[in-house]
Amino acid sequence: MARFWIDNGHGGADPGATANNLVEKDINLYVGLKIKHHIERHGQICGITRAGDITVPLNSRPGMINAFRPDYVVSTHQNAGGGDGYDLIYSKSKTASLELANRIASEFDKLGQNKHRIFYRLGEDGRDYYAIIRMVNAPSVIAEYAFLDTKDSKQIDEKHEQDDVARAIAKAMLEQTGIRWIEELEGDMMERLVISYGDGDWAAATLTAYKLQCSVILREIFEAHRNENKSKAYYIIGGPEDYDVLVAGADVYHLTGPDRINTARKALK
Ligand SMILES: [Zn+2]
Repeated sequence: MARFWIDNGHGGADPGATANNLVEKDINLYVGLKIKHHIERHGQICGITRAGDITVPLNSRPGMINAFRPDYVVSTHQNAGGGDGYDLIYSKSKTASLELANRIASEFDKLGQNKHRIFYRLGEDGRDYYAIIRMVNAPSVIAEYAFLDTKDSKQIDEKHEQDDVARAIAKAMLEQTGIRWIEELEGDMMERLVISYGDGDWAAATLTAYKLQCSVILREIFEAHRNENKSKAYYIIGGPEDYDVLVAGADVYHLTGPDRINTARKALK
């Protein structure tokens, strides 16, 4: 299983760039959590610097990230200071960092965003200038999607655009480790749905979803949306039996037990 980390910039007392009624820390939080969601629905592991609006000092981030031992790190930001298009900053000393930056660039290109710069920056000592790039052991990329203080802000000011950015970054990160991207289907349009009850059930849930060509959603998300959900069949991984009641009228398959991977395999034969 691959391990990823999303370092969503700023937060709490540090708003980052603010312009045109946009606050960078809020965009970074929303995009960061969405990336994590996409990575996890592919059965991979993803840590995040902040899951809420809290202050996390820049100098405490590299230690936190290194302790998690991720394979790849993306630091999400937005730009300011006049300009147009995305910036991607990579490490001069790590080939994989440039590879990941190029993958993200090609996904951003597909969204129609202009390329501003893809670059590395060195300090006076000849090492990478930015702490997240220099001090994090894993290959990392700083991704700044748009300038908030110019008309470029129109590229990121709506939720569906922020969803697209998250999707682009998650796809690039997964594919960098050889994991095939599976498009997420809208919950209420799915014929079949796999619901993962807990973190320990992701592997079995992913296997099941892969075989059924459908998506995995977390129990919490399902709970929030179940009244609108119209799926005909539910595959519950590791959850309690009372899910039958929650989804009355639909076929419900429980995949439980101590070895859920094998249970999933048998049930899917
Ligand atoms: Zn920033």
